[in-house]
Amino acid sequence: MDFEVAPLPYAKNALEPVMKQETLEFHYEKHHKGYMTKLKELIGDKPDAQKSLVEVIRTSSGAVFNNAAQVWNHTFFWDGMKPGGGGQPPAGDVADLINGLGGWDTFRTAFVNQGMGRFGSGYVWLVLDGGKAKFMDTPNAETPLTTQSVPLLTADVWEHAYYLDHRNNRKGFLEAFLDKLVNWDFVAKNLKK
Ligand code: MN
Repeated sequence: MDFEVAPLPYAKNALEPVMKQETLEFHYEKHHKGYMTKLKELIGDKPDAQKSLVEVIRTSSGAVFNNAAQVWNHTFFWDGMKPGGGGQPPAGDVADLINGLGGWDTFRTAFVNQGMGRFGSGYVWLVLDGGKAKFMDTPNAETPLTTQSVPLLTADVWEHAYYLDHRNNRKGFLEAFLDKLVNWDFVAKNLKK
């Protein structure tokens, strides 16, 4: 298994002013890397150390699962954003997918509502399930990797994801994520997998 957290795909101040550098300093450096530190402590030189991160997620439970899934979920969240991203995607596969879900306004409202409906900590996801796009939300560290669904995009809705930028306003965070941060090229790449 790769025991390093992947570098952020942009500078920590690159998502300003939508997502503060301070947010990335805490969320990436402290939370994300903290899950990896804990995972390494838990696994040590046990057989899991020979597996890939995804294999660990799919074969573990308890604290090992929670920390491994958090490592993977955060990398997926970072990769789904870029400076100057968001808004309606350009014509192509992703735009077609969104049109299939009722168009941009409907998609945007549904994604935000799915994230708002997750009580407590977790994630909101856009996934492919049997070739059909749908929304999903998961509690805590849970991830579509343990289901039949293929993840396309996620937003972290743990309070640590938005408190420095939006305080308790999760809706404002999700709207800013969709309108100004989403990396549609990443979604397009995941659609082709
Ligand atoms: Mn997080």
